[in-house]
Amino acid sequence: MHALTNIPIPSILEIRSGIRHQLDSILHKHGFHHALFLFDAFTYDAYAESFQKSKHVTINVQKMEPGQTIQDLIAFAFTLDSYDVVVAMGGGQIIDYGKYIAFSRKLPFISMPTSASNDGFASSNCSLIVNQKKATVPAQVPFGIIADLEVIQQAPSHFLLAGVGDLMSNITALYDWEFEERHGKGHVNAFAAMLSKKAVNSFIRTPMTDLQNPIFIKELVSSLTMGGVATVISGNSAPISGSEHLISHALDKQLSKPYMHGIQVGLATYIMANVQNHRALRMKKVFERTGFFHYVKEEKIQKSSLAEAILFAPSVKPSRYTYLHDQTFQQKALSFLESDHTLQDVLV
Ligand SMILES: [Zn+2]
Repeated sequence: MHALTNIPIPSILEIRSGIRHQLDSILHKHGFHHALFLFDAFTYDAYAESFQKSKHVTINVQKMEPGQTIQDLIAFAFTLDSYDVVVAMGGGQIIDYGKYIAFSRKLPFISMPTSASNDGFASSNCSLIVNQKKATVPAQVPFGIIADLEVIQQAPSHFLLAGVGDLMSNITALYDWEFEERHGKGHVNAFAAMLSKKAVNSFIRTPMTDLQNPIFIKELVSSLTMGGVATVISGNSAPISGSEHLISHALDKQLSKPYMHGIQVGLATYIMANVQNHRALRMKKVFERTGFFHYVKEEKIQKSSLAEAILFAPSVKPSRYTYLHDQTFQQKALSFLESDHTLQDVLV
């Protein structure tokens, strides 16, 4: 008999308005004494000072510049001593820095996202610069996630739309994963798949006309978190990342200024749902109701870039076997791109 699976999951999960004011007591409750608290330039100016007046825990705040490479982060990590926890507050980049610094010193990491634009704040991987190129680097799942809805509400609404795009991709990713298994090229972990599916289905039932509504944001953040945990269970990104993510990775490589991850992924998800012929109508409704398509139109994304990305996508991960790895479906994606009315309207 196989032993039961033992997986690390976050011990702290706090998603509500104003929760940042309780950081000191949360750290204290979990037995931490000395926290290193990392900020990006924006969060440093807006929030750092308010965390210095802590009662129980010594909190040392530090502003980090963008553009750090993996070597910079490791070098920085080994200048640190006497901390028992690393906290990072900000967008995806500072969260990734904190995650990797904590990982290289085997310290617990607490993620405090200021936007819900992708699932990075809850995942075990980070995106870092390795040999001048962006790469996905394994780290560990955060010990804690503290998402203050009051803070996330203040982010521009297209950050939330990007989060919607990244979450909706669970649907196409799961379908790709099953496709891969049917072709004997992979194995679907049932529990991870269930978690990812439940996460997106719960979100779909939320009212979507007011993106700033705390109920909507809470649902989005908790569903993205569940997706992140699903990847820890399966030990790979398959429960939340399939052909649609490959298209986005291809765009990242070919564009000098790529669009937001969740925006590229959402657009590719719409295409792939139609290629897979699975829940495509539902997908369209979500993107219409939230204003996702409206935002895409403002971004003036080129149809030709997407066509190129669809062709290049399978080679991004040759070890996988998604719908796009099958030439018939790849052709279907290209002709859908040329014929779909919505895409003709929102792309240039
Ligand atoms: Zn993603």
